[in-house]
Amino acid sequence: MDSSPAKTTQEKLEAWLRYYDDLNLGAFYTDRRTMRKRPTRRAPAAEATASAAISAAQPSTASAQAKSALPLALPVVNDSSLFEAMDRVEGDTLERIREDLGECTRCRLHKQRNKIVFGAGNPRAELVFVGEGPGHDEDIQGLPFVGRAGKLLTQMIEAMGLTRDQVYICNVVKCRPPENRKPEEDEVATCSPYLYRQLDVIRPKAIVCLGATAAQALLKTKDSISRYRGVWFDFRNTKLLATYHPAYLLRNRAAKGEVWKDLQKVMAHLGLQAKKASR
Ligand code: URA
Repeated sequence: MDSSPAKTTQEKLEAWLRYYDDLNLGAFYTDRRTMRKRPTRRAPAAEATASAAISAAQPSTASAQAKSALPLALPVVNDSSLFEAMDRVEGDTLERIREDLGECTRCRLHKQRNKIVFGAGNPRAELVFVGEGPGHDEDIQGLPFVGRAGKLLTQMIEAMGLTRDQVYICNVVKCRPPENRKPEEDEVATCSPYLYRQLDVIRPKAIVCLGATAAQALLKTKDSISRYRGVWFDFRNTKLLATYHPAYLLRNRAAKGEVWKDLQKVMAHLGLQAKKASR
């Protein structure tokens, strides 16, 4: 009789992962170091762990510096399934994604759009900003973040010591929702594969989600952004942080300080120095 104890779920899962490794699908799976730490599938529930990870990444004292020598245990929020793995397109390029998108009519947003707003900036950017969807000015020009919120985003980028040409800026949905309403779930679901492909091609060092729509689309959560803004997550092996949308800042100036703190975390990760204020 077999006296060995019954296999735990963990052991079974690890056996499956070894099997996927044998099939050369291992790379599509999440960082194994975090496997034993992950408490639940839902991203914001990992907030406490995430905060600890961030403080380890942001040493301010000697003991914090010692902590930072440890490998970061980022909360993993995207359990890549085989289906997601298939979303990755071999040899993909931004040009090919734009071509595949074509004069898109896949969802109702095409009906009132003027121009598709695919994205703009450096295809090799270390930093990608993801917004919600084009507004009036973006729809006219076919470029992301060129209206009032866009001007504020430009100032934020410059305060980080960068220019718009150095980063990449795109949105969850590529067509303007009528009256600037929030994109509906099915519109996000239809458009987000193109966003995933853009992020997979650019492979930045950091992704900053501007506002809840972007964060919810990439973190696959419905939770309020205030629960997890400023916290690092792992998105398909890239560090991702959500902060408030510049349009929100235009209405709530008081939140600027929190956004600046979030951006400073991104700067620390990218090794950037804040731009000196001109006299
Ligand atoms: N708001 C967004 O989310 N994206 C834009 O491109 C412009 C405004």
